[in-house]
Amino acid sequence: MQFIDLTAQKARIQDELNERLAQVFDHQRFIMGPEVAELETRLAAYVGVDHCVSASSGTDALQLALMALELGPGDEVITTPFTFVATAEAIRLTGATPVFVDVDVETFNIDPAQVEAHITERTRAVLPVGLFGQTPAMDAINEIAARFRLSVIEDAAQSFGARHGGNASCGLSSLGVTSFFPAKPLGCYGDGGAVFTQDPDLAQRLQALRNHGQERPYHYDRVGMNARLDTVQAAVLLAKLSVFDDEVAARQRVARRYDERLGDIVSVPTLATRCESVFAQYTVKLAERDRVAHELKQADIPTAVYYPVPLNRQLPYLSDDATPNSDYLAARVLSLPMHPYLTESEQDRVCSALRATVV
Ligand SMILES: *Cc1c(COP(=O)(O)O)cnc(C)c1O
Repeated sequence: MQFIDLTAQKARIQDELNERLAQVFDHQRFIMGPEVAELETRLAAYVGVDHCVSASSGTDALQLALMALELGPGDEVITTPFTFVATAEAIRLTGATPVFVDVDVETFNIDPAQVEAHITERTRAVLPVGLFGQTPAMDAINEIAARFRLSVIEDAAQSFGARHGGNASCGLSSLGVTSFFPAKPLGCYGDGGAVFTQDPDLAQRLQALRNHGQERPYHYDRVGMNARLDTVQAAVLLAKLSVFDDEVAARQRVARRYDERLGDIVSVPTLATRCESVFAQYTVKLAERDRVAHELKQADIPTAVYYPVPLNRQLPYLSDDATPNSDYLAARVLSLPMHPYLTESEQDRVCSALRATVV
């Protein structure tokens, strides 16, 4: 059994994939070829915003978003310590300082009350994360941000495809950022990412920044990056978009089945009201997590721990902020096999092995 099975998906999209890739190899416009613009148009429509600016990875997309807001030394960005390192790394790479506030123990996402409590005169932005595929509490965060005139960047690397009150993740605040890392809900065959915004000025700045800060050929107004999405990856994503809605529904079906079969023995994921998760991960909480993971491995069932150490407990990001929920979750979370092509019999094997292990 695989933790995430991309082979089953490939078999399904093979024809369109071959066709799309053959077109790229024929026209040979490997950098900013027509597939990149086509993908950006399709993704912007999917999210329901005016602008999508694709990028070379989710990490680079986060950094571009922060650069577009002109954040730098002296600025503070409020974020969660219970996330993938890229969230805080991007903040630090701009020279700004991540301020870590605790998460809600049920949703795994940043606690809005904690956000407000940590605002100072240096705070410029809030960077919440839609961990495991559920959007953060964007209504509350946007309301606080509006009162304190802060920007909100949604790190939707795991939540692309999720919805919040009927609106798509990535379109819920000033800037939405996602990743197309192969294991993400919408993944390419390498690195990729994108930034979404309604703001035409931010979009223009993002377009320049991902291409060395170039406004017109060989004229530069600001220091940028080489952070473009490869045409080949745009072609892969276009092929995958055809099945994406169906895959999101399949992920949600798998999650519901886990809920039904495991809810009495472990703490299953909680969805906030108005939230539909895309279940990038199906993550349970349990005591003796490491023993259980080890025994599942013996039974040939792959699991993963996202994340074993909160970022504010790691050398480059050390801070002595009290984040008890993050510390608690880091010791208890376990992600189970989750992908749209997980069969019912595979899932039953996971559930009975877990049942035999958890006592
Ligand atoms: C994957 C991920 C990123 C980074 O994306 P890459 O495409 O791997 O650079 C950022 N934030 C979160 C929460 C992620 O899960």
